[in-house]
Amino acid sequence: MKITGAESFVLETPVGGAIADSMQSVEKLEFVGLRIETDHDITGCGYTVTVGAGGKTLQTVLDTLFIQDLLGEDPRNVRQIWNKLYYGKAHWIGRAGAATMAQAAVDIALWDILAKSAGEPLWRYLGGARADPIAIYNTHAGWLNYSEDQLRREAAKLVGEGYKTLKMKVGLDDLRDDVRRVAAVRSEIGDAIDLMVDANQKWDSRRACEAARRLAEFDVKWIEEPLHPDDVEGHVKLRQSSPAPIALGEHVYSTHMFRDFIQRGGVDVVQVDVCRVGGVTPWLQVASLADSFGLPVCPHAGDLMQVHQHLVKAIPNNWLLEVIPLWEKGPFEHQVVLENGYCMSPEMPGASTDFSEEAFSRYRVS
Ligand code: MG
Repeated sequence: MKITGAESFVLETPVGGAIADSMQSVEKLEFVGLRIETDHDITGCGYTVTVGAGGKTLQTVLDTLFIQDLLGEDPRNVRQIWNKLYYGKAHWIGRAGAATMAQAAVDIALWDILAKSAGEPLWRYLGGARADPIAIYNTHAGWLNYSEDQLRREAAKLVGEGYKTLKMKVGLDDLRDDVRRVAAVRSEIGDAIDLMVDANQKWDSRRACEAARRLAEFDVKWIEEPLHPDDVEGHVKLRQSSPAPIALGEHVYSTHMFRDFIQRGGVDVVQVDVCRVGGVTPWLQVASLADSFGLPVCPHAGDLMQVHQHLVKAIPNNWLLEVIPLWEKGPFEHQVVLENGYCMSPEMPGASTDFSEEAFSRYRVS
């Protein structure tokens, strides 16, 4: 099999109502990626996601650093291609940021081709560790721009829809406001529903220690991204005093950084993100590493990074998959199917990363 062509794209998709965490307010998402064509009449699609800026930069990386080096390659040599691109034109400016996120799109498209050519959904192609539906948690009730009333209403609605696990944002300027909001949601949903909090890197060590101590009475199942995502030592120290487990990984760019977080004891829940870490190839390495340390993997936004729904089914150490259902009907050809707190097993061949033709032409940026 040979790669005969590849074309990059940027899609700009509004998210509906504005949503905010402690770092940003989001009004649109960009899906930036490429379609890779082969001489076997199979086209793979891979993409990476931004929260509304940087899409054109990522596209430039694809167009100027990667696509030419894909032509003529055999997509079955996916790991070799990963190394070729990683140590190729992008290496001087890369290893994190736009170069890594663009490489993720390429790698996902290649795994999509491989699974399609085998006629299997990617999770089964990768070994299918679990055939049962995956337990999910929902982040869409807990945005930082929601009022306390809105938090209560949205949480109650999701519990009514069958969700057993919710996550909410924290990281307001005054920690007392965070505590009040978590107390409100906890009292609304009761003790039978699991609740996590996500600070999106907002705190320093002192604030994070205090937050961990004061949120303990609400039985939070994890505290996510309390500190800067490169601060291994800070997370190690925090973890020693925090009553709640520490979750991180959606902003960690390499297998080496994950090794340090895991080996040094800075993380309990590994949230490796396929778009941030450079694709399916390194994602699987990180998941195996976490497994060898007895740590669960709970990746970021399974309904936006569609391939995550496959990856969690291909490993034995998944605990939960995050979902953020922004749309009734998303831009994908085969959107995740969510039922009663679970993600159903995708059965179509490939990585579920194809966009519907309607969404593709509607949202594509020329
Ligand atoms: Mg997060």
